[in-house]
Amino acid sequence: MTGDRAIGERLLACFAALDEHFGHEPHWWPVLTDDPPFEVLVGAVLVQQTRWETVEAAIVRLRDAGLMSPMALATTDANALAALIRPCAFHAQKSVGLQAICHEIIRRYDGNTGRLLSGERSEVRARLLALPRIGRETADTIMLYGGGWPVFVVDAYARRLFARLDLAPGFDFLRMPYDAVQHLIERALAPFLSTGVTTARENFHVHRAVETTGSGAFFFAQFHALIIEACVHHCLARNPRCDQPGLRRSFIDHRKCATHCQVCHGCPLRWRCATFNGTATSRPDAVAPGRGQADRA
Ligand code: SF4
Repeated sequence: MTGDRAIGERLLACFAALDEHFGHEPHWWPVLTDDPPFEVLVGAVLVQQTRWETVEAAIVRLRDAGLMSPMALATTDANALAALIRPCAFHAQKSVGLQAICHEIIRRYDGNTGRLLSGERSEVRARLLALPRIGRETADTIMLYGGGWPVFVVDAYARRLFARLDLAPGFDFLRMPYDAVQHLIERALAPFLSTGVTTARENFHVHRAVETTGSGAFFFAQFHALIIEACVHHCLARNPRCDQPGLRRSFIDHRKCATHCQVCHGCPLRWRCATFNGTATSRPDAVAPGRGQADRA
């Protein structure tokens, strides 16, 4: 398999290309309330199996109902809560789960979500994983955006994108366990994030991201957002828009929709995408109609 250094350089190159295409527009995490860590936690639970547009609307309804605090959410009527988040998948189960989480935050952390997210990385992750409706991806998302931890979130978007790019030939991004993917990405990026990067043009964006916070947290937060942008506009599960303008989405927070992408010439990663160029060493499940494939037809 390709060495860590090469994988790290590919990741930085992808980051730079995505940042150039989307970087001035994505706004993550949307802070619609005055308790960002709690808002992130609620949003991370609601977004499971649900489009972000639906989650945004649910959070606005919760905020307008005065429920965006652990105490308010824990003590409201469960059916009323379920009705407010209803368009979200599994709204009844999420309602019960969110209330149980809120009771824990109140009981163990004085209602302070920030305290839940403080401590050693493994400790914080274990605490989150012990809560209902929180698995690895949700835990890491909450740690990253709610607690500022420099962690790479392994979601379906990242798996799909990296598989199609053939980022690490021989490594099956679609099927490898969550922790194995996270370890690979974080290990490959560690030397770059710890030392900063100052020379190559492609690394300018990374350098800017790292310098902004002095840690990799901002980089990982931005990278996760950029991967989502790439996958909701171009690298769709079916019929990816490799050389077409990005798909239109409609978010409440208009800053999150890359409007210029809807008139662009195609995915910003297509020149480095093995699937598009027909050079993939393995065949991702959903293969893009790439230039190379068309050439071979
Ligand atoms: S070129 Fe196509 S398959 Fe490759 S990352 Fe972009 S949208 Fe996905």
